[in-house]
Amino acid sequence: MGRRKKIVDECERLMDEPEQIRNIAIAAHVDHGKTTLTDNLLAGTGMIADEGEATKLMMDTEEDEQERGITIDAANVSMTHEYDEQNHLINLIDTPGHVDFGGDVTRAMRAVDGALVVVDAVEGAMPQTETVVRQALREGVKPALFINKVDRLISELQEGPQEMQERLQKVIADVNELIRGMTEEMDDVDDWTVSVEDGTVAFGSALYMWGVSVNSMQRTGLDFGDIIDMERADERQELHEKTPLSNVVLDMVVEHFPNPVDAQPRRVPRIWRGDDELDIAEQMQLVDDDGEVVLMVTDIGMDPHAGEIATGRVFSGTLEKGQELYVSGTAGKNRIQSVGLYMGGEREEVDHVPAGNIAAVTGLKDAIAGSTVSSVEMTPFESIEHISEPVITKS
Ligand code: GDP
Repeated sequence: MGRRKKIVDECERLMDEPEQIRNIAIAAHVDHGKTTLTDNLLAGTGMIADEGEATKLMMDTEEDEQERGITIDAANVSMTHEYDEQNHLINLIDTPGHVDFGGDVTRAMRAVDGALVVVDAVEGAMPQTETVVRQALREGVKPALFINKVDRLISELQEGPQEMQERLQKVIADVNELIRGMTEEMDDVDDWTVSVEDGTVAFGSALYMWGVSVNSMQRTGLDFGDIIDMERADERQELHEKTPLSNVVLDMVVEHFPNPVDAQPRRVPRIWRGDDELDIAEQMQLVDDDGEVVLMVTDIGMDPHAGEIATGRVFSGTLEKGQELYVSGTAGKNRIQSVGLYMGGEREEVDHVPAGNIAAVTGLKDAIAGSTVSSVEMTPFESIEHISEPVITKS
């Protein structure tokens, strides 16, 4: 069996195990390293090859697929990650980094349950960090923090341990101030502030592909002092091999972000204001794959061959080809032509996509980003509020 086929089979198997799924977004101020980190995660999990080889996936791709020219959709990628002797399916939705895309950022947040907030260690939390954290929290999405570009503090700014610690603590304190300010008003979440001790903060270098967290220190035996020494001595490749960033970040994702079964009972009342006595309310909260189909469309993309592709989160039921579904705000039904998932960054057609997953769907000609698509007529999801950039910025 080809390597690609094996990965697809494993993703399909994991799609039916909601406890092993994490739907996440990476949110960052522009240039803080979101793209570099995403590449790391894909390379680290073997979804794309690192070190400049031709991508392994492409090499294994069927000839006809190569001919039709696969475009990597950087916006949506799925990968598998083993943690605690169990494999997990991580569906990552990219959020546009530019202020103009605020609406898209919020839409992406609706499809996920965890947001990895990336902050540049040198620049610290910036206005757009605040915007993305607010958007995540408003949607009931749990944050964790990755402080990037730590290599620059060590090698470029030549900071000593004390100075570095103060700087990193300030970043954490600033992010926590934002989180505390928002979550104090929310009665459906516990304390969502992040901390090194809890393992909800990781540090590293997306450029040199190493990372560190409390969890990784225990596993690798490398503490911050060792890392500073190795980075200073230019032993970056060794550092990457000993404590690869993708493991550090994905372990944190699996351990600290809720799976759909944990997340949906809390999130559904927040984003859907229909009658909570209805069966469909319970089906969405329980991630019932036998329930009515409910899909929240977060994005419409264009594929040169397949046409319009709707991407969204399946909250209940199981999506299958041939289903006739209602699209909120429009009359009549649309017929599903294909369902798929994003494997690596490529769309892969599958037989069905059950509740708790991110699906790629064709045939929903009337759907727009924000549509509720369902097998019974229902109250649509709440419209998504766009949060604009804060007018007053922090110093
Ligand atoms: P995005 O706008 O958040 O997607 O940021 P990018 O991933 O495109 O990174 C912006 C710039 O920062 C690029 O020039 C990267 O090479 C650089 N960069 C990203 N991560 C690191 C890092 O860990 N260390 C250093 N020194 N540079 C980095």
